[in-house]
Amino acid sequence: MYINNEWVSLADTIEIDNPATKETIASVPNGGKTEAKDAVDAAYAAFPEWAARTAADRSSILRKWFELIIRDQEEIATLMTKEQGKPFKEALGEVQYAASFIEWYAEEGKRIYGETIPASHPNKRLFAIKQPVGVIAAITPWNFPAAMITRKVGPALAAGCTAVVKPAKQTPLTALKLAELSDEAGFPKGVLNIVTGGAKDIGDAWLSDSRVRKLSFTGSTEVGKVLMKGAADTVKKLSLELGGHAPFIVCEDADLSKAVAAVVASKFRNAGQTCVCTNRVYVHEAIYEEFISQFKEAVGQLKVGNGLEENVTIGPLIDDSAVGKVKEHVADAIGKGGQIISGGSYSNELSGYYYQPTVIGKATDDMLCMQEETFGPVAPVATFKTIEEAINRANDTPFGLAAYAFTQNITQAIQISEKLEYGIIGLNDGMPSVPQAPFGGWKESGLGREGGHHGMEEYLEVKYVSLGL
Ligand code: ADP
Repeated sequence: MYINNEWVSLADTIEIDNPATKETIASVPNGGKTEAKDAVDAAYAAFPEWAARTAADRSSILRKWFELIIRDQEEIATLMTKEQGKPFKEALGEVQYAASFIEWYAEEGKRIYGETIPASHPNKRLFAIKQPVGVIAAITPWNFPAAMITRKVGPALAAGCTAVVKPAKQTPLTALKLAELSDEAGFPKGVLNIVTGGAKDIGDAWLSDSRVRKLSFTGSTEVGKVLMKGAADTVKKLSLELGGHAPFIVCEDADLSKAVAAVVASKFRNAGQTCVCTNRVYVHEAIYEEFISQFKEAVGQLKVGNGLEENVTIGPLIDDSAVGKVKEHVADAIGKGGQIISGGSYSNELSGYYYQPTVIGKATDDMLCMQEETFGPVAPVATFKTIEEAINRANDTPFGLAAYAFTQNITQAIQISEKLEYGIIGLNDGMPSVPQAPFGGWKESGLGREGGHHGMEEYLEVKYVSLGL
């Protein structure tokens, strides 16, 4: 673990497994309440000096961190593939995406502007200024071991906050490598701390600590609700990036080959384990047969295997329970009349947690995979008759993170984007995530935004100053 710029080890450890081989590759300290508190002590002590620095000063250290991550990108990506499973090329893409948040916020930190406000009295002057919230806690998932950390600590550190971070227990190695590079970049003691270990102990310690003024969490809706309740006692600011259930609508006039390429990328990257992955596909009935035929052909090109091997495009799932959920969703869909177009089974011939990329035709809305996030490589395809019907079915869910639609009619595109109850809309685009745009969900998919100037606001408090002359 990395606390107060020192490496901390414990006799009690957690083993980290490679999901492609099920072999143990490393172990990290099994930290708990004590280490969680040590990290807050360090971050709290570091805050006044870090917050008082100029934005340009903080920016130059962040910039250095960005450059070091790019310098070591291949090493980080290899480590990520080993602990998380995603193919090396995809891991390299994540490292670059992760680094881009640090680069972007290093610049954006220089633009934290306030306001002057017209007064109600001639002898008064009114201002609103923005200040860092203080110590922030970030709790991150295993599906993006680097980017979910930098998307939170990039803006936080640029704003002048200090941070305590708990990476997912499956993927702490990438997080610790980022910490090593932050040390080399020259962050002062205690500005960034990484605690590995028991989620509940560490989470509870941070929730109950009134010095932690903000919690940013990415993970399941279920855990997000627990943390939201826990944050109430100390009224912490909250950002929650929770589960999704993304619909992908293909209109009759869509450019089919672009739609197919986009749905393959959106559905199968990270073996379907991203919160913005397409979870259900709605295709206009007139083009269903043609869509299915092109989709089947494209999915046939995908290669499942260990992500360190060349040409592999789909790695293993993270663990046994992930495979279990996929199997449950596929069995349920078949039981309800779904037609296996491709895949549909556990790849037993391989030693890791593999599942074949699967397309299910004739999907119906009563299937589990049409109602909840599968978080695996399964694409159920249903048909629709009118666009209103497709939008209503897309919106009929408690989730509202990402939604996709393909059409060449500009009016229809705008209408669809306005009617979908989602925080992120990909119109003729299956990969909308970038550091400069606001990412986040409606409904039970979350609170707050990450990315862009919106993402910076999450780490700032507004202070109104009324000056009498
Ligand atoms: P996923 O399904 O993606 O693993 P989780 O919501 O279970 O998502 O986990 C996301 C992160 O939240 C992980 O770092 C995990 O350790 C952490 N976590 C899980 N349960 C709790 C809890 N009760 N308190 C704090 N953190 C938790």
